[in-house]
Amino acid sequence: TIILGIESSCDDTSAAVIKDGLLLSNVIASQKVHEEYGGVVPELASRAHQQNIVPVVDTAIRRAGISPSDISAIAFTRGPGLLGSLLVGTSFAKGMAIGLGCRIVDVNHLHGHVLSHFIRNTVTDRVPEFPYLCLLISGGNSQIILVNSPRDMQVLGQTIDDAAGEAFDKCAKVMGLPYPGGPHIDRLSQEGDPKRFKFAKPHIPELDYSFSGLKTSFLYTLRDNVKADPDFIENNKADLAASLQATIIAILLDKLDKAVKITGVKTVAIGGGVSANSGVRAAVADYCASHNLAAFIPERAFTTDNAAMVAIAGYFKYLDGDFCAMDAAPYARVSV
Ligand code: ATP
Ligand code: FE
Repeated sequence: TIILGIESSCDDTSAAVIKDGLLLSNVIASQKVHEEYGGVVPELASRAHQQNIVPVVDTAIRRAGISPSDISAIAFTRGPGLLGSLLVGTSFAKGMAIGLGCRIVDVNHLHGHVLSHFIRNTVTDRVPEFPYLCLLISGGNSQIILVNSPRDMQVLGQTIDDAAGEAFDKCAKVMGLPYPGGPHIDRLSQEGDPKRFKFAKPHIPELDYSFSGLKTSFLYTLRDNVKADPDFIENNKADLAASLQATIIAILLDKLDKAVKITGVKTVAIGGGVSANSGVRAAVADYCASHNLAAFIPERAFTTDNAAMVAIAGYFKYLDGDFCAMDAAPYARVSV
């Protein structure tokens, strides 16, 4: 079975090929046009997808060493995401499937992030055992999900305001760092003192998250200090980044610990763009080691948006014979 995966939900155009569950290729074209705007501009994203999609799919097929006629089905991201971006991948998948005479499989982008641990290069690669907990931390979502099977996921808790990625990006923005700010905070943190500044941690019941209070507290710290010293941010950026990152990690780990205790699961995974963060990766690995849990930390290439995760999520649906109708429209919003 050969699945072609297509991802176009936000600002990365990606195509991947998997054969019997093993990854043959994964090509990602990231869009640079958004940097100067400090965020993703939907109209520009759609246009760039339109430009990238043919060469990206073509490259993925060539690198996989297959011919288009070998493709069993085309899996595409149907949502959530930017509608204009999703339309490009959805329409392309349909057109190509008609040309090849194969079926299409629609994939929930968030399922893709959660199932990224099933992307394997060889049959011996380890994969999580069910049920497992997945901390899904991305640009648009922060959720704790109990994964009972590839098709059965239960959201135990989620953010009531900003996503973890938004907390990184918005705080980075007020520091004057380029978009997306998450990777810059990560880099600066390496040289900073994580205990130097204290920022507000939310008191939210159960397993839900909140990051907007932290964002405000970060903003006020900058504002108050910049009044006294205009060079405050520049002179303290490593400590600010490290303290911010440490606070976000503490918030994430606190709820993860609660979820582990409530569910009693033995396996913990992380997924989504923020799972690329070195501090998050180390903290989750340490937590799992000290609590005797199996930890699944994704390869960095599979943390941010990629089509390999879409292909593997589509593969599980394909195995169930769960195909998508040709009149399916993408959806901008949908939960897990
Ligand atoms: P969603 O998946 O919720 O629809 P998305 O697809 O836009 O949102 P992803 O591509 O999964 O989000 O992740 C992007 C986010 O990951 C951005 O907020 C970015 O700042 C963050 N990110 C990427 N690398 C790092 C890092 N090293 N440290 C912190 N954050 C990071
Ligand atoms: Fe994503």
